[in-house]
Parts: sequence; C-alpha cells; structure tokens
Amino acid sequence: MIIVKSALTHLECGWTGETYDADRVWNLSPAAGRPLLARYDVAAAGATLRREALRERPATLWRYAEMLPVRDPACRLTLGEGFTPLIRLEHLGATLGMEALYAKDEGLIPTASFKARGLCLAVSRALELGVRALAIPTAGNAGSAMAAYAAKAGLPAAIFAPRDVPAPFLAEYRALGAEVTLVDGLISDCARLVQEGVREGRWFDLSTLKEPYRVEGKKTMGYELAEQFDWALPDVIIYPTGGGTGIVGMWKAFAEMEQLGWIDSRRPRLISVQSAGCAPIVRAFHAGARTAEPWSGAATIADGLRVPAAIGDFLILDALRESGGTALTVTDDEIRAAMLETGRAEGIFVAPEAAATLAALRHLLAAGAVRPGERVVLFFTGSGLKYTHLVS
Ligand SMILES: *Cc1c(COP(=O)(O)O)cnc(C)c1O
Repeated sequence: MIIVKSALTHLECGWTGETYDADRVWNLSPAAGRPLLARYDVAAAGATLRREALRERPATLWRYAEMLPVRDPACRLTLGEGFTPLIRLEHLGATLGMEALYAKDEGLIPTASFKARGLCLAVSRALELGVRALAIPTAGNAGSAMAAYAAKAGLPAAIFAPRDVPAPFLAEYRALGAEVTLVDGLISDCARLVQEGVREGRWFDLSTLKEPYRVEGKKTMGYELAEQFDWALPDVIIYPTGGGTGIVGMWKAFAEMEQLGWIDSRRPRLISVQSAGCAPIVRAFHAGARTAEPWSGAATIADGLRVPAAIGDFLILDALRESGGTALTVTDDEIRAAMLETGRAEGIFVAPEAAATLAALRHLLAAGAVRPGERVVLFFTGSGLKYTHLVS
C-alpha cells in the first residue's frame, strides 16, 4: 500500500503573513491574535495527488490527504466523513425558473452536519501533536462533532453550550461521552469559559478559526465541488455563515487547486447568508469594512448563525469581495418556511441554517444578483433532525 504523505510545511498568520512551525501546538498567531492558516508544498503534494488518482481513493475527506495536515496515518481519524452527494434540486429549480440548482447535502455526515469535517481534522491533528484534552464553545453541531472525534481519539472532551441548546444536541453530547456545561448566555460567553480553562492548562481550545485545522477540514468541500462538477466550478455558492470556516476554507481550496493545476482562475461568486437577528458579516460587507463589529442582542432560530463576532471576519469578507460575491440577510420566518418547502419539494429535511440559503436565493433572483441560467449550489450544512422543535 502507498503511504500518502502530508505536504504540510508551515503555518502562516492570515493577517500579517508571519510564519510559524506547523509541528507545534498553536491557537491564534501569537503576534497578531489572528487565525493561522496551513501551508503546503503543493508541488510535492501534486506528485501523488493527481486528479486521476482520486478514483482509487476512499470516499471520505481523507482522499485529499497530501493537502491535509495530519502526517501520521494512524492519527487520521475517520467515521466516514465527507464526499457528500451533490443533489440536483429539480423541483425547487423548476419553481424558481432555474435549470441548474444543486445542493451539497452535508446532513449525511457523521453527527449530521458539516461541522464534522472541521472537527475531524482538528481532533486528528491535536491527537498527533500530543494534546491531552479538548474543549469547545458551541451553539449545537460543533459540540456533537467534537465529541464524536474525541471519543474516537480516546481524548476527554468538554462542551460549553448556551442553556437553550435544543435537547437532541444535549442527548448527543452525553451519548458521545462529553462533559457538558450549560451557560446562561451566547456562544461568546461559552468561549470565555473555555478560555479560562485554557489559562488553567485544563484543555486545548477547538473554537472556530482559533486553531489552524478546522478550516482544513472545511476546505475539502471546495475540493469535492470541483471533483463533482468535473473540474468546472459552479457560478454561485450560497453559504449560511456563522464563524465562516466554510467560506474561508473553500476559498483556500480553490487557490490550492489552481496551484495543483486542477482548475483555472475562474471562481464561483461566494454569497454569505445570515439571519436578520445576527448579521455582523452582512453589515460589515455593505459598510465596506475589512473587519466586523460585534452584533449586539443576537437572536435567531438558526443557532449556527448566532455568532455575534467572528475571529476570521476579515478572511470571510476578503473572500466574498475577491470572488465578486455578496452578503444578505433573511428573516427567521423565511427560514422556517424554507425548511418546510425544501422537505416537501425535494425530500431533504434540512437544518434552519441550510434553509436560509433557499430563502436567500429568492431575494438574489429578485434583485438580479443571481441569474436563473447560472449553476448555483446551496450549502445544506446540516440535517433538520435535531431541530424538530421548529417544525412541530
Ligand atoms: C455551524 C453551522 C453553520 C455555520 O457555519 P460556519 O462555518 O461557522 O460559518 C451553518 N450551518 C450549520 C448546520 C451549522 O452547524
């Protein structure tokens, strides 16, 4: 069997470009307090990672192992994550007068959301680097995903979630063996408690973009889209944005694939959707700002979008702008209606965050920001099964 080697070389601060040793444990860049991004020797990766070679590879995100950060194959944890189907939405497409409307159905991943991609990589790499305990602030799915991979890795996991986290998540955290603390407040309050534990040396913080590797898991969505569209990326990607790892990750994936010689310089327009009750990225995008002010009084039924301040704000905003995309809000009523519409029209029970993409598409078509003939992908980021309270 061929041993596939990671081509990871170093980490780079996303703000200053300063470089750091990839084989040490890091959270944010020590100098700037901003996210660190993994960099690779792309030429070395390309020696074995060729488009044709992918046919022989497993149908998980590990098929791109050369461009992922885990060196020791024994530390590449897997529960079957990734390589989700790209589903043609014929019925919704017809209703909207569109010919090429697709969904990437991430609800089929272990723990039923795309959070598993990021946490699979983050936990695998933490295991490899000798981390002994893990913690995460979460509004729902990130906690489930961390708990699953921590169990697989045999590492203790502590979850800090807002007290109003839906009951199915709590049950899942406990079933997967995590220690759970319910917090009166938002995910930002949970994050402060995780930070306290970090200062006391109790665990490693796996918060969105506060360690370098969750984004590496999320970027595989970009690789998969290219592969599934036969190396011609779609025109538009509509993405429900909280911490924004998927936007940052896919944008990074497109650049890497161009370096690998897999795609040309054309890029999809990345469109970020947030809830009207918590839209710091949308506000900053339209204000022309490079970073986002924290949103006060954040409230939405789409828990994954209830992120008042994103540490990777500038990376998200840069990607939206460089791609020629945009950002918009939808209301919670529109989200609820879109959940039902998606289920009834297409047979997919989606999470509220995912439903927000369909609600957004309606606005984008009406405004002429998306044309009916374009190839559009909605990111169905999670299953609706943990959100039954929203439809009963
Ligand atoms: C966390 C989450 C989001 C937001 O993802 P980010 O990468 O943090 O922007 C969207 N949908 C679901 C289902 C989520 O769990």
